[in-house]
Amino acid sequence: MAEIRVLPQAVADKIAAGEVVERPSAVVKELVENSIDAGADSITVEIKNGGISYISIEDNGKGIPKDELESAFLRHATSKLREIEDLFEISTMGFRGEALSSICAVAEVRVVSRTKAAETGVCMTIKHGKPSPKEEIACNAGTLMVVENLFANVPARMKFLKKDSTEAGYVTDVLGRIALARPEIAFRYICDGKEVFSTSGDGKLKNAILNIYGLDHAKSVLDVDYNEHGIRVSGVVGKAELARGNRTRQTLLVNGRYIKNHVVSKVVEEAFRNMLMTGKFPFFVLNIELSPSLVDVNVHPAKTEIKFANEKEIYNIIHCAVKNALYSTKSEEQKEDKSGEPATFAVDFKRQGDAPDRKIIREFLERTIPSATKIGDERAYSFNEPRPVKEQSLGEEVFSEPIWKGEITAVKTETVPESTQISFDFAEQVEEKQTQDAPTKVIGQVFDTYIVAQKGDEMFLIDQHAAHERRRFEMLKKDFCENSVSGQVLLSPIVFDLDMVEMQAVRENRDKLLALGFLIEEFGKGSAIIRETPYAGDEDEIKSLAEEVISALVDNRPMGLLSVEERILDMVSCKYAIKANRRLSMLEMEGVVKDVAELEKLGITTCPHGRPIKISYSKYEIEKLFKRIV
Ligand code: ADP
Ligand code: MG
Repeated sequence: MAEIRVLPQAVADKIAAGEVVERPSAVVKELVENSIDAGADSITVEIKNGGISYISIEDNGKGIPKDELESAFLRHATSKLREIEDLFEISTMGFRGEALSSICAVAEVRVVSRTKAAETGVCMTIKHGKPSPKEEIACNAGTLMVVENLFANVPARMKFLKKDSTEAGYVTDVLGRIALARPEIAFRYICDGKEVFSTSGDGKLKNAILNIYGLDHAKSVLDVDYNEHGIRVSGVVGKAELARGNRTRQTLLVNGRYIKNHVVSKVVEEAFRNMLMTGKFPFFVLNIELSPSLVDVNVHPAKTEIKFANEKEIYNIIHCAVKNALYSTKSEEQKEDKSGEPATFAVDFKRQGDAPDRKIIREFLERTIPSATKIGDERAYSFNEPRPVKEQSLGEEVFSEPIWKGEITAVKTETVPESTQISFDFAEQVEEKQTQDAPTKVIGQVFDTYIVAQKGDEMFLIDQHAAHERRRFEMLKKDFCENSVSGQVLLSPIVFDLDMVEMQAVRENRDKLLALGFLIEEFGKGSAIIRETPYAGDEDEIKSLAEEVISALVDNRPMGLLSVEERILDMVSCKYAIKANRRLSMLEMEGVVKDVAELEKLGITTCPHGRPIKISYSKYEIEKLFKRIV
């Protein structure tokens, strides 16, 4: 029997369909893009069971002429192009003529369409690739596409689908982004009979944001509009308070087309430097308009990833655009606060030509993800283990500045340890013994962040926040494992906004949240209510903690060393922990030193993210540094 066979058309179609239509959200994307291409200014999308059992898209576009209906469903049938050179040269969203034929191969499709000129519309059903005869029908001008029982005939693909709610979340995400890209189109989106959002189509991005993400987002965004070398960056960035624990609320468009580009996210985040806490990602909707020739064409059109031809320049322009937006409003505040960065920062940045190239991005990564292995640094240590101090070049690798540049606060002269009198003649082995027995004495605090302590012949620098956070984390984790985390009932419960995906996560994780000390319930459309919390702070703090926790649940994956549950426990611990940049009393410092000792008993030497809690210098090392010994 021949080994090589030509696949039957039906099989080939199913395979091709798999590439275009991976899941319900892809069907919605393709069909909505067709509606946009048809010039619709009103599009209604309805799904049931995450889009698996039912998707309908209705538009008021130009409609499909009666005699072209069948051909629209043929593979590579398109009205939009004859020859393609470049994806981004084409002004329509689709052009490959693959979507409809692919969808028909793996679902039951009903189409009803009428052009404005036609008196009656036409209707047709295609079941698993087989069309029914078309019929005349009275209908509105425009097109209605109904897709039912997706993948019912392709069990292998069906298996890859996730829970209905997760699939619905993907649809919400895709549609939300398209609606943000096209504020001039009125979108209405209904999921399982409930309206999730509807936009007005008045062309104002901020109104689309209001309808999709709510009022808190609409009122906390800054306009971006920047033009340089024929490249325009426009849209909005969210103020710091909108930052989230994940990047799901970042939308990047290139010439109006939604794309993913990880580096652009990093570049935008870099522009927020020092404004956001570690692990927080800014909100943005940015459109980059540029000549199609600057977009790398060697990329599969079905993918949302692209490359820019002149990356460095484009990243630089994006960075400037965001900086300008952030600092033009900041300049008002800076008139009062002279210590802030100069309002001309963006201009300065530009003049220096300091492009946010890989170096900056790498530095940024290292700063924000300290437990990540340093790129290109083969000597990078695992932070799980204490760093071997001897191998570090002190004062260079650990600190970028000389160690003792800052003042030491709260030095108690009477606590100057006698051991400083001990001469360097003491052998190293004696040193070790002494260190174990001697009590730890707190000397003081540097930079309001590190506790300086001494134990025998060893000096420590303790990161007050890292140490305290880890201790709280261990205690909380123990409670969690023993099922005894207790939430405090809030006398005035807090109501806050959630999008559909987040609400789903709250619903699905109710028990997990309770075990973690949170009682959060749905509270009307688009909002939830916090009734119990493991952290008693002020309202804003509790709210932001709950948002972070829900982000982690949506994200639903481990981060660095931490599982999802641990990430959440850490968020709570972090709230309670002593912050960096806080001057501590002697008593508080002693408390932290005790915490470190407790942790060391358990063999723990790092914060939950893997950063070291304590750095030690032996007297011997210090004396070597001062060249007292050689
Ligand atoms: P493409 O969008 O790449 O051309 P599709 O398979 O998505 O390929 O669609 C095939 C053709 O069907 C389109 O080129 C268009 O002429 C027609 N069509 C599809 N959907 C619509 C719609 N909602 N309104 C008008 N015409 C449509
Ligand atoms: Mg299309």
